[in-house]
Amino acid sequence: MTKVGVIGAGQLGQMLGYAGQRLGLDFVFLDPADRPPAASVGPVLKFAFDSTEGLRRLAAETDVITYEFENVPVDALATIAPGNPVYPPAAALQHAQDRLAEKTLFGALGIPVPGYRAIDSAGDLHRAAGELGLPVVLKTRRLGYDGKGQVVVRTADEIDGAVEQLGGKNLIAEQWVPFDREISAIGARNVRGDIVTYPLTENQHRDGILSVSRAPARAASLEARARDFLTSLLRHLDYVGVLALELFVVGDDLLANEFAPRVHNSGHWTIEGAQTSQFENHLRSILDMPLGDTGMRGSAGMINLIGAMPAARNIFDDRLWHLHEYGKDPRPGRKIGHATVVAADDAVRDKALKSMAEKLNI
Ligand code: AMP
Repeated sequence: MTKVGVIGAGQLGQMLGYAGQRLGLDFVFLDPADRPPAASVGPVLKFAFDSTEGLRRLAAETDVITYEFENVPVDALATIAPGNPVYPPAAALQHAQDRLAEKTLFGALGIPVPGYRAIDSAGDLHRAAGELGLPVVLKTRRLGYDGKGQVVVRTADEIDGAVEQLGGKNLIAEQWVPFDREISAIGARNVRGDIVTYPLTENQHRDGILSVSRAPARAASLEARARDFLTSLLRHLDYVGVLALELFVVGDDLLANEFAPRVHNSGHWTIEGAQTSQFENHLRSILDMPLGDTGMRGSAGMINLIGAMPAARNIFDDRLWHLHEYGKDPRPGRKIGHATVVAADDAVRDKALKSMAEKLNI
């Protein structure tokens, strides 16, 4: 039986596992956490993500290794023997881990990005503010997620404090984009190079964390361009697995924000809303199986459940809704589940989303 090793045993690992069980796969996870969500799927090797011993054991016990988060230490992965394939490839991780390398790659592939500058001092940001104009978004180059490690700088007075707050160096300043919408383009590429892409997803964030997604995004004029950006990234990186590209829509322009070399929160709707979920297509990719149909089963929407589960679970007792609970302890700002609606059309979907958002007080 094929065994898949997953670095990280959070909810993404858990959902990969559930999709894989239907394909007859076995899973082993690596994660230092106590009782992580994916423990419901398979054994968890309790080691730090950069533990050479942990990674070697994972490789020894499995046929192929993948990961569920992008801050996996690239040097540690290199200790895994060449006979043990690791997908997506390290080059994708390297670019996704450093916002400057990521922006440079977008530029090299002709994918438009907001104006940006590398920042290693307050002086750099004063200069960048002059060149880019204010506001700018100052971000740490590495290890930022869900809006953490970033500050909007609106006036010149805020520059010194913002640079200090984020550690003084290894930062990037980006033009603040007055976007109309945020969308993500999600696709998969298998070992032999076949590519599939999902219909675009529109995303709303609250406090830097994804709150609501809707698919399809109804962005006909942008669909082909977004798909071209995504496929050029997948091909250039000789990518294997699912990749999510986050884009800002400003008028008719598309500007790339970042990409995630993994299954993505904005693709959770694909479990019930698409013919083949992002999780199944990720597994099909890394096992070099034919990729599954990405067509929609209806008009889909997803709401993240953040911080706490609603007291009354029966709010999801409606045939349109599908509830997912990850088995995590509730904590403010923590993603502990999500709910997906699949409806006959956008109007029914949007009505269901609106009423659920009211019940959840978001
Ligand atoms: P990130 O961690 O880069 O994905 O940023 C989290 C969220 O912050 C994004 O989804 C946007 O809503 C917002 N954001 C990030 N960068 C910018 C920008 N340059 N201009 C405007 N909003 C931004």
